[in-house]
Amino acid sequence: MNPRLHLLLSLASLASLASFASFALAAGCAAPPVAPLQASAAASALPAAALPGATAPITYVVKAGPRAEVLTVDMTLPPGPARTFRVEEAAASFVRDATFVALSGRGAAEALSAEGDTLRVPPCPGGCRVHYRFFLDEAAASLDDVGYAAERNGAYLAPPSTWLLQPLSGVPDPDVGRFRLRVDTPPGLRFVSGLFRAPDDPSVYEARLSDLPRTPYAAFGVLQRFEVAAPGGVVDVAVLPGAIDVDHDHLRRWVDDAARGISTYFGRFPVPSALVIILPTPDGRPGFSTALGNGGASVIARIGRSTTTEALARSWELTHEFVHLSFPNLHLRHSWLEEGLATYVEPIARARLGIIKPEEVWRGLALGLPKGLPEPDDRGLDHTPTWGRTYWGGALFCFLADLEIRERTGNARSLDDALRAIVAEGGNISVRWPIEQALDVGDRATGVTVLSDLYARWKDRPVDVDLDALWRRLGVRLAERRVFLDPSAPLAAIRDAIAAGPPVSRAP
Ligand SMILES: [Zn+2]
Repeated sequence: MNPRLHLLLSLASLASLASFASFALAAGCAAPPVAPLQASAAASALPAAALPGATAPITYVVKAGPRAEVLTVDMTLPPGPARTFRVEEAAASFVRDATFVALSGRGAAEALSAEGDTLRVPPCPGGCRVHYRFFLDEAAASLDDVGYAAERNGAYLAPPSTWLLQPLSGVPDPDVGRFRLRVDTPPGLRFVSGLFRAPDDPSVYEARLSDLPRTPYAAFGVLQRFEVAAPGGVVDVAVLPGAIDVDHDHLRRWVDDAARGISTYFGRFPVPSALVIILPTPDGRPGFSTALGNGGASVIARIGRSTTTEALARSWELTHEFVHLSFPNLHLRHSWLEEGLATYVEPIARARLGIIKPEEVWRGLALGLPKGLPEPDDRGLDHTPTWGRTYWGGALFCFLADLEIRERTGNARSLDDALRAIVAEGGNISVRWPIEQALDVGDRATGVTVLSDLYARWKDRPVDVDLDALWRRLGVRLAERRVFLDPSAPLAAIRDAIAAGPPVSRAP
């Protein structure tokens, strides 16, 4: 099944987390912009974060089997009424042997019976513990999707949302309530997750309950790991088993380039930590990558076996995904802004590092932006989810906004300032924002209401753009797929500032 469609179907049924259904939690799909398509009680208890007045978190302690083929999960619930739980809908049949025991008194464990694909936990005034097993090997064979459960080269890829029982009812406010997760693996086996770590305990992950239906990517396996430091954050890289020709030094340089490009553009690395899972594939080039947030930040990056170091250094995909890390999840109908930003910012971020030349930025825009113009049946950006309008229509929005901010502020402010402010206010892939919030934060940073005004004009109706006139003002001329930049064009200074970046005095 199409993962995004599947996601929508799954989320639509999570009544208690209804606000979730409308967000683009499959965030950041990474379709290329150049082509159309994408235990014992004592041992199990985790210390709860002791915030006065806060509801105690739900805690999960997970033990992986020898190859992680089976996960044994102990879920500890704070005192509360009857609650219903379910794992990711498509994985419900892989939850087995669920039992329940009250933490107060000396009751024996009782079997929990399933009602459909949900489990009902009786009221537990003194708190209780649910124990179950999750058959990850069966889920991976059945679902075979890295966003849900899949086996690749002996490792399992499966976000916690696939194997953690999530509350469907009985939780007052999933945006306030939190969960904590610890995963224990046998010697030689590793677990990695893009979830953020708890502030008081780096061995534990912690996020909001409302993040549980679509947590960041995670993997179990014989993984090789290294870290890449970035300003304001760290990238945790996990290389899955499988042969690739490029060595770890070049992988490190590739991740470092993408992280530096993003940190330079956005003023800092957008999240305190991000997981990059490198998935070797049998083909010959860097491939389709995807990003996933909600309580953390993660990317799966595919690298073909015979990818050369040169091809890796030139590839754009990881920078595109890192732009997704740098912006909040929006409602599904605004995917055009998430993808448009990634499409527009990625080459600029690489040009500012000197990885590509400014001419390449302008050549890409000159060839790509016409694909983002409205077609005859267009109903505005919020209502026309075609490939062209999503990637290049969104990029056109960002490009015009950047130009107008620069023109109205004498090139003193730009889209950079708007996006930096959004990151500075915590707007990154770990959270979900209404689009208006993001545009408002951006507008306040630039001092002009370009983003909100442009959105109001473009969201519900097609707006044509005279790109030829724009290229003339900018001094960008495309001839036989080569681009020529005219230094005497009226907007030459703005054009050059876009690819060159802010003056040194404004750099981080
Ligand atoms: Zn994307």
